Amino acid sequence: MKWMVLLRAPGQDKKVYRYSLKEAKELAIKAKKKYKHRDDVMVYLISCQKAFAPPEGWTRRRIKRSYWCPYCATERKFYRNNVWGTDQCGVCGITTSDFWVRTYNHLWNKDSTSKKKRAKR
Ligand SMILES: [Zn+2]
Repeated sequence: MKWMVLLRAPGQDKKVYRYSLKEAKELAIKAKKKYKHRDDVMVYLISCQKAFAPPEGWTRRRIKRSYWCPYCATERKFYRNNVWGTDQCGVCGITTSDFWVRTYNHLWNKDSTSKKKRAKR
């Protein structure tokens, strides 16, 4: 299982990979402590492989482009990516064309065009 600790500072992202959640968490906590005084540095823990289901009873807030991100394992604001024509997680970069993003946010019916594209493959 691969995890990424993403350190987001203005103008640059630093990515560090760990193979156990425990180590990744420790690293993230350390980084958070280190940058406690900097409110322009954000630390994120991202799952690189496994998609996480939302907790039971979770419902999507009625906010535009706010989705459950299965790789950040939290609800995130997604941004429009005009190049791909999809919405993209502002942190890990996963798009709404990802199988699990669609599944957990019940997006399958909304976008019939991509469904057709998938069927062609
Ligand atoms: Zn994400």
